[in-house]
Amino acid sequence: MYVQTKARTKLITDAEATRVPETDIPEELRRRFLNIPNLPESEVIRHYTRLASMNFGVDNGPYPLGSCTMKYNPKYADRVSSLQKFTDVHPYQDESTTQGILEIMYDMERKLASIAGMDSVTLQPAAGAHGEFTAMLMVKAYHKKNGGERDEVIIPDSAHGTNPASAAMVGYKVIEIPSAKDGSVNVDALKAAISPRTAAFMLTNPNTLGIFDRNIKEIAKIVHDAGALMYYDGANLNAIMGVTTPGDMDFDIVHFNVHKTFAAPHGGGGPGSGPVGVKKELAQYLPSPIIKKTKNGYSLRDNGKLSIGKVRAFYGNVNVILRGYAYILRMGSEGLREATVRAVLNSNYLKELIKDVYDVPYGSLKKHEFVASAARLKKEKGVRALDVAKRMIDFGIHPPTIYFPMLVDESMMFEPTEDCSAEDLDRMADVLIQIANEDPKTVLGAPYNSSVSRVDETKAAKDSVFSTRYLRKKRQ
Ligand SMILES: *Cc1c(COP(=O)(O)O)cnc(C)c1O
Repeated sequence: MYVQTKARTKLITDAEATRVPETDIPEELRRRFLNIPNLPESEVIRHYTRLASMNFGVDNGPYPLGSCTMKYNPKYADRVSSLQKFTDVHPYQDESTTQGILEIMYDMERKLASIAGMDSVTLQPAAGAHGEFTAMLMVKAYHKKNGGERDEVIIPDSAHGTNPASAAMVGYKVIEIPSAKDGSVNVDALKAAISPRTAAFMLTNPNTLGIFDRNIKEIAKIVHDAGALMYYDGANLNAIMGVTTPGDMDFDIVHFNVHKTFAAPHGGGGPGSGPVGVKKELAQYLPSPIIKKTKNGYSLRDNGKLSIGKVRAFYGNVNVILRGYAYILRMGSEGLREATVRAVLNSNYLKELIKDVYDVPYGSLKKHEFVASAARLKKEKGVRALDVAKRMIDFGIHPPTIYFPMLVDESMMFEPTEDCSAEDLDRMADVLIQIANEDPKTVLGAPYNSSVSRVDETKAAKDSVFSTRYLRKKRQ
């Protein structure tokens, strides 16, 4: 463990740290013998290697899980974030000893601000949804200061579920508006819903259908004229990075998903990073602390009395931020733009290859992802999106996101990121077409080549077993 001495933080052994004689510790708080198997290293390594091989990750093959941006995680970023100079730093250290990491985080804030066309950024939130929640707290603080009695947030029906959840957690009433025929924001529905009660409009552009909203300037004007704020869900930043910015589209607040756009590993509930960027009028509401650059160096400071306060114990998930920072530096602004251009090209290429077999509603030109439908297959052969997804596993391709967004029947949302090669995309299309032509019995029984065959979805969700200890308890 670490202890803070006057001069620095020092690593001490557990024995040194034990100052309290064990007899003084109440019985129920004392360390107990852990009932875990005592095994040789060889068996432990074999066990975990076997478990790892049962999983599917970006190192195994294409991973077109829509909305999640499962791009390849470059190994240089892992190397950077695991440098001992970073892993040994502790947030309780004196600031004079943490200037390096503070400088990096300060620079990361500047880089994210520039990518999004915002003025200030906080790295504090731990994931995208946490960023949304933080931003909604700021929206609330902004209206409180400006005397507005606003209790509604408008969200289109194509939005990610975290948007309404975040608004509701802050106490807002969620007003859902339907999409227009082409999948973009229904401007008339927005005009009908907006009022002096509206606090914010939450939108991702391009939206979850991969459609870029051409009316964005008009939409922003409608929202601003009503005194409300424009919130940008940045999960789809991989479609616009280096080409345009939420700032140019007149958004006021943005969240980033560093683990998506900037290639840090995620999924399985792993660590994330959800910075929030704002235009300067909102900077005073950012959570405390903020990183200040002074003539004496960098310092974490309170952000004043209008700040929403802390949203996390320490300033950001540093190991994710470091990976994202390494990625941004290595790519450069040209590289980031190129990633976007390729991601958009890959998405449209795959869509063209499969659109005669799986209908792709809502317009023809997509951004970095598109939503196809298995509705025709279901009608003709009883094969659903879920069955197609399960069968893809047998071919070593991760399934797309299914049944989201909900406005497409039997939806399959594909996001083949920029790291998919032309061969990957051709093969993915061949596999999808082959599945559509297979005997339905084969598809309905899939997967066959995975370590776990088809599970009972309802039972898996309602009756999950998380550990051997949990299993033992259940069996008693
Ligand atoms: C992933 C995602 C989120 C939530 O982000 P997390 O980092 O998973 O919390 C929000 N909106 C959209 C569109 C997303 O794809």
